[in-house]
Amino acid sequence: MTLMESWIDSANDPQTPFPLNNLPHGVFSTGEGGDRRLGVAIGDQVIDMTGLDLPGLVPANQDWTAFMAAGPAVWSAFRAALTEALRAGAAGPLRAVIAAALVPMREVRLHMPFRVSEFTDFYSGRHHAENVGRIFRPDGDPLSPNWLSMPIGYNGRASSVVVSGTPVVRPLGQLPTGDLPVFGASKRFDFELEFGAVIGQPSQGMVTLDRAEEMIFGYVLLNDWSARDIQRWEAQPLGPFQAKATATTISPWIVPRAALEPFRCAPPLRDRPLLPYLETAGDSAYDISLEVGLAPAGQAETIICRSNTRYLYFNAAQQLVHHSSSGCPMRVGDLLGSGTISGPGADQRGAMLELSWGGQTPVTLDTGEVRSFLEDGDRITLRGRAQGDGYVIGFGDCAGQVQPAPAVPGTVAAG
Ligand code: CA
Repeated sequence: MTLMESWIDSANDPQTPFPLNNLPHGVFSTGEGGDRRLGVAIGDQVIDMTGLDLPGLVPANQDWTAFMAAGPAVWSAFRAALTEALRAGAAGPLRAVIAAALVPMREVRLHMPFRVSEFTDFYSGRHHAENVGRIFRPDGDPLSPNWLSMPIGYNGRASSVVVSGTPVVRPLGQLPTGDLPVFGASKRFDFELEFGAVIGQPSQGMVTLDRAEEMIFGYVLLNDWSARDIQRWEAQPLGPFQAKATATTISPWIVPRAALEPFRCAPPLRDRPLLPYLETAGDSAYDISLEVGLAPAGQAETIICRSNTRYLYFNAAQQLVHHSSSGCPMRVGDLLGSGTISGPGADQRGAMLELSWGGQTPVTLDTGEVRSFLEDGDRITLRGRAQGDGYVIGFGDCAGQVQPAPAVPGTVAAG
């Protein structure tokens, strides 16, 4: 697909992440303590949805959750009407209303675009799963026997999902030191490069792959902050708990599923046939370039990873079908994390755990500093871009800066 030209000049820049082909959904405010308003990004502007008469819009809403609940037919009607009004040469009353509702992107503060009802994190990046297997089980098969058959995941916390820019405080927890643990600040705090699917429709009982696709409202970038030392001690014999509960950062704009449809590509080759309920036909993956930047406090950023969503072995629809097969109901606002997306190369690893190979080979930054895991003050930024013919689809930065851990209760002398 080629660039759809708009009467908003900045949307026609071949490098803007927000051309007319995108139209992502966000929530913004202006000034100190300003009201939260629904916005759609276009070029270097945000369209304030407050006064607009478009399908599914409720003026008083402070996020997109109710709009998501209205369903795929309404999402399409909204997108079609907005696209028509923004096209180059568009006439009609809506164009004038939009022209009066533009707010420069540089003047807005972005907030959570929807209310996260539930959060499930999967583990569908094959290279990541294999690398982690090799680090922790150097002599065994890097993949667990179930991995090629189903999307592995765990039920996470919705309460700690935050929007890009929110500071992330280093967690406290039990850390392994030989036979007995100590309680303190994680020394192996890490990021994970993931792709998040935002579920816009509820379900009851098992859904089909076709229905699962329809339930996906859009996608965000997602950083599943992880404390590797806490995880190593606690995850015996159950899965992730406190190690993953500190924070999950998402990018501020929900990119509609429709905007990503031109970027479908073939999924990875299957080592063994999938069971019929998970079998997809045709191009079920997405070709979206990803990168991770690490900037020490007050210093320049180094790109430490370049990857792509095409490396995911299972897509969000397959994850959703598998999740629903137990009878687990989905809610509007469910968020599914893809799992860490690493590629085959050494510079394509989507977590410090892999980049430093468990701390054995620290990463040297452009500043000359070295990192095995994250230090206080480090800022991690995830970026994604789908390259079209003369245009780009972007997500906005998914960023967070690591803050020092709080004091351990009981260890600080009173008064
Ligand atoms: Ca994860």
